[in-house]
Amino acid sequence: MPEFFINGQPVHAEPGQTVLQAALAAGHYIPYFCWHPNLSVAGNCRMCIVDVEDGKGGTWSDIACNMPVDEGMKVLTETESVQKRRKETLQLILLNHPVDCGICDKAGECMLQDQHYDYHGERPVSFEPKVTATKFHSLSERIVIDNERCICCSRCTRFTAEVSKSNSLAIQFRADHSLVRASEDGAFERDAYSDNVIDICPVGALLSKDFLYRSRVWYLKPTPSVCPGCERGCAVNIWHRKPEWKLNALDPRRNASIDRVTPLENPAVNGPWICNKGRDLAKILERPRAEQALLKGKPAELAAAIAQARDLVAAAKRPVALVSSWGSNEELAAFKATLGGRFASFVKADWAPLPGEVVEDDVLIKPDKNPNRRAAQGLFGAAPIAFPEGTDLVLVWGEGFAFSGLPRGAKVIFLNSYLQPENGHADVFLPISVQTERSGHYTNFEGTVSAFRACFARKPTVVDAEALFAALATRERAAA
Ligand code: SF4
Ligand code: SF4
Ligand code: SF4
Repeated sequence: MPEFFINGQPVHAEPGQTVLQAALAAGHYIPYFCWHPNLSVAGNCRMCIVDVEDGKGGTWSDIACNMPVDEGMKVLTETESVQKRRKETLQLILLNHPVDCGICDKAGECMLQDQHYDYHGERPVSFEPKVTATKFHSLSERIVIDNERCICCSRCTRFTAEVSKSNSLAIQFRADHSLVRASEDGAFERDAYSDNVIDICPVGALLSKDFLYRSRVWYLKPTPSVCPGCERGCAVNIWHRKPEWKLNALDPRRNASIDRVTPLENPAVNGPWICNKGRDLAKILERPRAEQALLKGKPAELAAAIAQARDLVAAAKRPVALVSSWGSNEELAAFKATLGGRFASFVKADWAPLPGEVVEDDVLIKPDKNPNRRAAQGLFGAAPIAFPEGTDLVLVWGEGFAFSGLPRGAKVIFLNSYLQPENGHADVFLPISVQTERSGHYTNFEGTVSAFRACFARKPTVVDAEALFAALATRERAAA
């Protein structure tokens, strides 16, 4: 393990590390734009320049991102010449930069903003008009680019070449005419991971059309969660309005809705990336909700519907349960503990791949579009659904089962979160909470357990499945 020195302090580097990697790992910050820990080294922004003592009383300068650590080398990161070069780099970057932070979605999490305040902090050096470029050029249905803000770091082009492998972005032309553009074959449109370039763009050049001008980021807070879009179970942050910045005049539903989803780095599951389906969780979790209990299709009080369901469970002779593969580990365990001995249980797939969806690839996406089938099958087995002769009650937990397949004459208790026609066809329909309204864990296809936390309160007419199972298991008519 080579030892070298940063500003006179000894630092141990892993074999093969660059000065920038070893410095950051040891807590010595060196600024950068184009370097990214999960991409190749481009070395084009020149922001990470440092001095190295030459052993003869002088120094030489080079970029830390491309400089291998050498035993005993003495690196200086805060000398006058280093600071001067950083400032010159920022002056060059800002020469044509529009500095429209007031309307820029990246403001508040922009590396250029931060480094301008840390290392530059002065007015532009040029009195010439800035070179203009396209402000809103559509790269795909999902992403727009503001070329004036682009600092040509090439992170986005390296991402499509090295991670998503679509090779769909490139830089056209030179110098202050450079433009990031998508290839004309539509590969960027088809890139299932394209939105990651929005996160890794160090400035506000690459913008999500969905999130465009939706909110300043400082009004939002992230809640750690797990994407339920497939059995990979990527760690994500669900961003939503901070309670202290609640909207009073605009649509109040915006105070309890998903504003954006970003990856939450987890080396054991998804590294720093997620696919675009994970970005679109609002399209899954914020479909029209079922918030009213029903008895044979007619609205009923939640407590009355639970009591009716409990009576059906108590009276049944051969009850069958179709267990949700979207239930959390806690909900599955609660069902097993309270009703598992009463029901013959089969695990069902709540979701199947949608038309046009990428079913599987060698980056992250897995073919099973249910986040917790492994845990469910661990508790209830993997046998295909089969209704024994004489089945007189079926408890259907979650979506995805066609009611036409139910045994004739059996009573039905249906637990679902969304407004769907089947809700009215059950003897008892009970609306249950969704993932953003409760906390829990999923176990992914490799057995890795990940936690998700509640973002929003559930409505009082909606019940948590975990509590519901205990209520269904007792004959006492206490309210759930
Ligand atoms: S990219 Fe950064 S510095 Fe440029 S306008 Fe946006 S927030 Fe401001
Ligand atoms: S769009 Fe962003 S990530 Fe791509 S080259 Fe420009 S600054 Fe870098
Ligand atoms: S790979 Fe699967 S779990 Fe990960 S973000 Fe995409 S759909 Fe969600």
